[in-house]
Amino acid sequence: MSNAPTLLLAEDDATLADALSAQLRRSGFEVEHAPNGAVAEYLLLKQPFDLAILDLGLPMVDGLTVLQRARAARCTIPVLVLTALDSLDDRVAGLNAGADDYLTKPFDFPELEARLHALLRRSRPAPAGTELGRLSFDRDTRRATVSGEALELSPREWSLLELLLSQRDRVVTKDQIAQAWAGDGGEGGGTSSIEVYIHRLRRKLENSGLAIRTVRGLGYLLEAEPARP
Ligand code: CA
Repeated sequence: MSNAPTLLLAEDDATLADALSAQLRRSGFEVEHAPNGAVAEYLLLKQPFDLAILDLGLPMVDGLTVLQRARAARCTIPVLVLTALDSLDDRVAGLNAGADDYLTKPFDFPELEARLHALLRRSRPAPAGTELGRLSFDRDTRRATVSGEALELSPREWSLLELLLSQRDRVVTKDQIAQAWAGDGGEGGGTSSIEVYIHRLRRKLENSGLAIRTVRGLGYLLEAEPARP
């Protein structure tokens, strides 16, 4: 199995799409091309890509609609939106619809490439098994232990810990937490209960050698505590 990141390129301009596909492949991406919004939507929902480049001006189904439908269907991959020059409204709409970044046409390939790599770095999940401090976290068996003792975690606490671990040393915002929870259904409470869950998780992690730091106005950060003397 190849480790090349897979990318969906939704672009109806055939010349641009061909040139981009060739450059992206040379940069190590496995590229699938969608020439219109209907194909883009179909492929996004059918296949797990690592990321997508989505032109907003697409025939059949416009890019914004594709993005909204994909997000509604819990497609969480990073999406970089391509917009025409001077269409600020498009950019704002794109970001509101769940785009992670945008680029205005025309653009330079190195800039596109740099942004794609940044998106990949941000979205890369923690490995299935994570050992950090005295915490051991196994995504496959959904089992977490501290110094060998099982941690009892509710689904929301589990999602929260998983998110914090996957973004270790980076701030996790309340929006990201709410999004992760939206995938779980049930439990209720919404964003207002985030502080409650953070508090509970902190208590459960008390002897793990890990600390959840509050970054005022931004969110939370999982850090390893300095080793005790
Ligand atoms: Ca277009």
